[in-house]
Amino acid sequence: MPDRRKTGEEMLRGIPVSQGVSQGRVVVLNRSRIVPAKAGFEIDDQAGEEARLQTALAETRKQLTAVQERLRDEFGAKESQIFDAHLLVLEDPALMEEVGRQVRDEHHTPEYAFYTASEKYAEALSAVDDSYLSERAADIRDVTQRVLGNLMGQPQRAGVSDLTEPCIVVANDLTPSDTAQLDPAKVLGFVTEVGSRTSHTAILARSLQIPAVLGLGEAIEELKPGQTVLLDGFNGFVIISPSEQTLFEYGQLVERQSSIEESLDEIRTEPAKTLDGHTIILSANIERAGDVEAVRKSGATGVGLFRTEFLFINRSDLPNEEEQFQAYKKVTESLAPEPVIIRTLDLGGDKLLSHVNVAAEMNPFLGWRAIRLCLEEKDLFRTQLRAILRASAFGDLKIMYPMVSGMDELDAANVLLDECRDQLRAEGVEFAENLEIGVMIETPSAAMIADSLARCVQFFSIGTNDLIQYSLAVDRLNEKIAHLYEPTHPGILRLIKTTVDAGQAQKIWTGVCGEMAGELAMVALLIGLGVAELSVVPSLVPRVKMLIRSIEMAKARELAEFALNCDSPGEILARAEALAKAAVPDFFEKTA
Ligand code: PEP
Ligand code: MG
Repeated sequence: MPDRRKTGEEMLRGIPVSQGVSQGRVVVLNRSRIVPAKAGFEIDDQAGEEARLQTALAETRKQLTAVQERLRDEFGAKESQIFDAHLLVLEDPALMEEVGRQVRDEHHTPEYAFYTASEKYAEALSAVDDSYLSERAADIRDVTQRVLGNLMGQPQRAGVSDLTEPCIVVANDLTPSDTAQLDPAKVLGFVTEVGSRTSHTAILARSLQIPAVLGLGEAIEELKPGQTVLLDGFNGFVIISPSEQTLFEYGQLVERQSSIEESLDEIRTEPAKTLDGHTIILSANIERAGDVEAVRKSGATGVGLFRTEFLFINRSDLPNEEEQFQAYKKVTESLAPEPVIIRTLDLGGDKLLSHVNVAAEMNPFLGWRAIRLCLEEKDLFRTQLRAILRASAFGDLKIMYPMVSGMDELDAANVLLDECRDQLRAEGVEFAENLEIGVMIETPSAAMIADSLARCVQFFSIGTNDLIQYSLAVDRLNEKIAHLYEPTHPGILRLIKTTVDAGQAQKIWTGVCGEMAGELAMVALLIGLGVAELSVVPSLVPRVKMLIRSIEMAKARELAEFALNCDSPGEILARAEALAKAAVPDFFEKTA
């Protein structure tokens, strides 16, 4: 490595969540809020200050109108109306009067005046328990930040839809809906202050194949607009002003990784079979119907998890039955005869609808989410169930309920499914009578009652992302406790084993569709525990397949046996990593 003090490069470290290396100029999105200090101006400057305010307001209007026009062109009039509310903030007579009064009578700077006046309104609106008013408060705060940026001559606060050139996006946070809007042609990589490996933002980055480093913490302040940085999504480094030597070393790393990818093409159509002849079903996780192409190219056996909620976000209305049917049919039909597991809506947690009024919750991941929401919003759920049933006539489609924590929820969901079946029969609409139903095992209670659940379903799919967060009480989004998020914790391994055993007792299979299934070091452990199916992001399918083809089931079982009798997550991890590294050493060579 070159001497960094001499070359001027600076290296920051975060959590690597999406592999790949990219280099580009930094564009900062929604960096932390501007909070102006209380400051006044000399009386003589009165006219100048008022003019400065007017210029900033005019500039803000111009920017908002430009964004609105672009949205109208790309997505239609309806989507662009979101910005009507933003423009109206700038016309609000009460707000403008208060800002003007503070500047005129109290000689506050326009920054401070605008901030305090708008914050007073936003706070008043947020205090009312009404989600429409809370959204208006968010609009006011959003517009205020734009005005302040213009007043202070700071680089423009851009949003994900404002990107014009290929760049590295730097943000405090990106929500899953922000991430879903990222255009891989423009976003070469992204870096955030918060977040961790199993957040849906990280999951989407892997799905879109955009290199990403999350959870940089305060170090993110070092990244300034316009800087050239190199982003290393393998190891979690962000290198400011990389030296020639560093660029050369990373160039070699990229070459080595691409030649591995090319060599994996040879096993695309081969089964995921261990050296001693045990076949594992290796399927893919998808978020959009358009991902089928990636699934086919990856060599996966169908889809093990279709996260349907991404059909519902980033839009101003709900998808109707026909639209959903077309999406599910497309995936099912294009992958037939391979199976496709459609997970019913898992809204809530970090995946929220922008247009449905859901009151903010103290603990969204423990709140109104997934099956809980669907069992109350019955029309929403029925619409989806009907669309899934209709699509089942076009291939091997299976249905899976998320976040089930007790038998009652499974029963209630099945009652609605039966109602939909009856309706379709009465309407003479075709669907697969023998549609298989599964549940996700992602709450500790579901794992503990797996014996009861196994009598009523045809398969289990373990959602380790949530199972780990709920069992270990570790928020899957929080980078501060990311070190406590341990897939090899004995508590987790025992819950997986309990689930697999309960399934086997009823002759049903258990898969894993959480991110643990795609962690190379975890693959042998999972199959050794008796997991029959692994479902991973399409880009990881070839590597996971190669790994399975390079190990013996006997060794995987030995590892699982060791793990079930070991108290230390660290020791289990070390043994699991050693096995994987011995099998596919090249996959672990990630440092430039
Ligand atoms: C999981 O929890 O492991 C899972 C696959 O579901 P999601 O990540 O969408 O919550
Ligand atoms: Mg989950």
